[in-house]
Amino acid sequence: MSLQKNLLKWFQKNARPLPWRKRYDPYEVWVSEIMLQQTQVETMLPYFERWVKTFPTLQSLAKSPEKKVLKCWEGLGYYSRARNLHFSAKEIVRKYGGVFPSDYEAIRALKGVGRYTAGAIASIAFNRERPIVDGNVLRVLSRVYSIGKPIDVEKNKETFWTIEENLIPRGQARFFNQAVMELGALVCASKNPQCLVCPIQSDCTAFRKNRVLDYPVRSRRKTRVKVDASAVLFFKKDKVLIRKRPLGEIMGGLWEFPEWKLAKDAGLDPGEIRKRTLIGLRSEFGFEPEKLKPLATIKRNYTHHLETLHIFSAPVPEAAVFTLKNDWPSRWITPREFLLYPFSSAHSKITKLIKPT
Ligand code: SF4
Repeated sequence: MSLQKNLLKWFQKNARPLPWRKRYDPYEVWVSEIMLQQTQVETMLPYFERWVKTFPTLQSLAKSPEKKVLKCWEGLGYYSRARNLHFSAKEIVRKYGGVFPSDYEAIRALKGVGRYTAGAIASIAFNRERPIVDGNVLRVLSRVYSIGKPIDVEKNKETFWTIEENLIPRGQARFFNQAVMELGALVCASKNPQCLVCPIQSDCTAFRKNRVLDYPVRSRRKTRVKVDASAVLFFKKDKVLIRKRPLGEIMGGLWEFPEWKLAKDAGLDPGEIRKRTLIGLRSEFGFEPEKLKPLATIKRNYTHHLETLHIFSAPVPEAAVFTLKNDWPSRWITPREFLLYPFSSAHSKITKLIKPT
């Protein structure tokens, strides 16, 4: 049991003072875990603070209109997470009278909650002896036990779930699970593990064999396709055109400046990007602006591709008429009105490029 004892002692002294660790309120733990599904702790912290200020209770979230929920999530990406929180808050009010369920199966049945998140909520909020395995846990366990099975092969992960489950000391799931993950985040880092100050060094077989960087083992490297896309800010005097993506599309329900893909092979030179953007404008909007000014580029990471979004501005004469090819709702709004519309992360960054007049 020295590994567990040392780890718990270390966690007590070194745990980061994260806001949901103050009270371990189930609603806050749930929100933090959903935000952490695709986002690093440092990135999500300001969003978490903003969220609990806007929706301090599960009931306040359940009562809120979806537009407000999405606006509050703006910038975090993967907006289905916000929709699932909203949907489940309403479900918890309806089914459980607004009290967050403590039963693992009931937690797992909530929309957007998989095995990992259910285990995290059950153990961190309710101290239930449920294991959790994320990237940090995989790295720590594969080093401590010198596990040679590739961690990116789905069937191998079961080994780690079983080890983690057997390691949880009775009555200490809340702190133990967090301690393993915290060690992975702060000490047992992938590139520069701090083995000399590690509290479980004496139990670590990879350290003993001087083979720390050989673990974790991976079977393959993922390659992601690169793509180029353009977004155009059409200005009519002090107003700019935005449109709403329909549900069912990626980022459905969010607003954007009109954008479209240019090419799959990326790495186009600036002349080619401009040329293809003008072709896109003609075919998408039947309109060719007199001026097309490049403003900025934004990188977007998707699961299967990396996208470079080229942003242009184009003044539109007052009398100009152009038709949007699809029937997505569109509006001309002033920059001051950006606050009223939920935008995707990249388009939210674009709003910051425009100064209100
Ligand atoms: Fe990780 Fe090094 Fe600690 Fe082993 S001794 S758990 S490799 S930090």
